[in-house]
Amino acid sequence: MPKKMTQDPWELNQDDASKMKDSTKGTGGTGTFCPKRNISIGTPCKVCETIQPLWDFPEGSKERKLASKKKATVSYFMNVVLPSDRDKSVVLEIGKKVGDYIIDSIYDPDKNWKMVAHPMTGKGFLTKIKKRKGDLGFNTYDPFRGDTCDWDVPEKVLKSLTDLGQGNIIKMITKGELVEGENFLRIQALKLDETLSFRICPAWDYKEGGKAILTPVFRHWGVTQAEVDGDVPLNISLDDDATDTTTTAAIAQEQPWNNTQSEPTSHDSCYGIIEPMTFFDDEDVDCKKCGDFAECGQLVAKRIAKSKLG
Ligand SMILES: [Zn+2]
Repeated sequence: MPKKMTQDPWELNQDDASKMKDSTKGTGGTGTFCPKRNISIGTPCKVCETIQPLWDFPEGSKERKLASKKKATVSYFMNVVLPSDRDKSVVLEIGKKVGDYIIDSIYDPDKNWKMVAHPMTGKGFLTKIKKRKGDLGFNTYDPFRGDTCDWDVPEKVLKSLTDLGQGNIIKMITKGELVEGENFLRIQALKLDETLSFRICPAWDYKEGGKAILTPVFRHWGVTQAEVDGDVPLNISLDDDATDTTTTAAIAQEQPWNNTQSEPTSHDSCYGIIEPMTFFDDEDVDCKKCGDFAECGQLVAKRIAKSKLG
């Protein structure tokens, strides 16, 4: 996009609005589905294949960091009912940490979350997730158990749960059918210190005996479909700058505080500059898209340690 020098850097234009709109509609920010790890696809993945040998390198090595950057990451999707709007279910997307916590809490006899998706009064309970700034300065999400519900999940809600078969989720993401604020919520959309309360619905296919209340979807970030398909080789150059995606560089360049820098760097374009509005968030799709995602957490931690010293 050509930029006029006289344009106010803070002014938003139609392009900016379109990009934001597109990011909810599947044309941007959707990642690239891993055909190997998503069992509903079940075909080989060239990206997974190419990075596989890199995991043999020691922890902290450039090779391992590159593998972390390119590997498929998981999000979980579930049907939930918000206590404030009990007559419909919405699809909630959460990250690995919170999803694993919910699953582990079903196992854990002390937590005993076996009734987590029970739709009846006095049995089912609210699940809560609080977004806060973690000790190291980046976003973290704490899941915990809320009160037992004194209301039933309405039968019409149970009858009209969204099909959360993995294939259908991928289809909905691809076609832009999950619309934030309408039928879809992302946990990252929470504001800092805000807590989301919701009731997890039974598995969408409970009538057929389905028990999976969470469906995992695996996506690669910062790689193209052609790289996943093997039509073009995956760039596994260990030169950090060379592996940055053009998107990251372009975003960095667009930001006014980077105008004085000759080389756009993504590292300084985010955390610490417009904080607390934006900082590293390991559940955040926009963070995952960034070419520096895997290393960002470490950079953030170092920066904080340094600021505490000085
Ligand atoms: Zn893959």
